[in-house]
Amino acid sequence: MSTTYFNINQPSEIVSFKTAAITGQGQQKGLYFPSKIPQYTQDEMKHLINLSVLDLAFRIMKPFTGNDLPDEILYAILEKTIHFDFPLVNINKQISVLELFHGPTLAFKDVGAKFMSETLSYFNKDNDKKVTVLVATSGDTGGAVAHGFYEAEHIDVIILYPSKKVSSVQEMQLTRLGKNIQALEIDGTFDDCQHLVKMAFADADINQQYQLTSANSINIARWLPQQLYYVLAVKKWLSTYNELPVVTVPSGNFGNICAGLLAWKQGLPIQHMIAACNANDYVHQYLMHDILKSKQTIPTLSNAMDVGLPSNFIRIQQLFNYDRKILKNALSSTSISDEETKETIKQVWNNFGYMLEPHGAVAYKAFEQYLATHTSAKGFILETAHPVKFPEIVEDITKQHIELPKQVMHLLERPKQSIFLDKDFTHFKAWLLSKK
Ligand SMILES: *Cc1c(COP(=O)(O)O)cnc(C)c1O
Repeated sequence: MSTTYFNINQPSEIVSFKTAAITGQGQQKGLYFPSKIPQYTQDEMKHLINLSVLDLAFRIMKPFTGNDLPDEILYAILEKTIHFDFPLVNINKQISVLELFHGPTLAFKDVGAKFMSETLSYFNKDNDKKVTVLVATSGDTGGAVAHGFYEAEHIDVIILYPSKKVSSVQEMQLTRLGKNIQALEIDGTFDDCQHLVKMAFADADINQQYQLTSANSINIARWLPQQLYYVLAVKKWLSTYNELPVVTVPSGNFGNICAGLLAWKQGLPIQHMIAACNANDYVHQYLMHDILKSKQTIPTLSNAMDVGLPSNFIRIQQLFNYDRKILKNALSSTSISDEETKETIKQVWNNFGYMLEPHGAVAYKAFEQYLATHTSAKGFILETAHPVKFPEIVEDITKQHIELPKQVMHLLERPKQSIFLDKDFTHFKAWLLSKK
């Protein structure tokens, strides 16, 4: 079985799964895309869905990893990646919530980050040069990457986060692990952090000392395992419902929903998908008005979705052969304001006693809007983070105190370890070069 990926910006560049995972992106910053996407008939899909969770996950991922990961290695990686539950919680007659926040950092990014770290460790096991993962975070990515890569062999992680702009739980997750995880608290915004990371990737001196890689959803090893949420959720859904589900995904960089669309393309039974955006509505503008225009990032309450130019949208276009009409049949979109987000958290709490956090609330509102014109539809939204990660907003609205879940309790006893730096690249570079 030969599994290859091509560079979307330069399709003649064809690489293996291993090369795509190690390099992250191709020439001209092109994203990699699978050369071949498996197609399952209804019967084949039914058979797959009836397998055990681990066998199902293996069968879905195997065509994408090919022989670069031997069967027993892929099984072992998946066992470590999906070791927690993804409950499908019923809210009312039409809406359920797929809770993706029961992993170690209470964020859906745990699955992708863990799969990627295990994969890179395996590929790098015979290399004497350590790989350094360099990542900027607005909160959630950093925590998931820190935990996913914690104590990973042959890999160091450097995380830049904006000082005072992440929640206290998020900061604990970034700064209290230590060992191979180094947190840098930057006196600036998320955009400043991201700028420093981009400059580092382009700097010759730094690249001579470090073998750098990124850990965002551009990397196929983080992006592709997210298909598993959809497959596992539909497995659960079909054990209760006869109708196919409408699936609503709170979207920022569009990696998660792109993985869902990839699963749907392979034959996963899904009725329709909805991309729920906050004020950052790049994709919504395209689907509504055929306009593709990047804007300055707008800060919102659902800050993990504050992305002006979603990197993964090009993959969605590729998946639909750049045909906007066909894409629109599969995917709707909407843009939800902060006011609507708060109102939704309040209403869902008051009416159903269910606590959403801002990202899930954006999805919930988007699904409600869809139901206004599709009155008999049923489905689920993805809740991508635990409310405790956004306590100021959620506790204020629901008047409830949110207990710290057990996954983060152990962090309380550890000291904060971070290095404070200003946003000047020369200082960041000097720190990096003196570190080794
Ligand atoms: C990252 C993130 C998202 C957005 O996911 P994308 O794959 O970037 O679209 C949504 N919600 C939360 C809580 C996140 O951390």
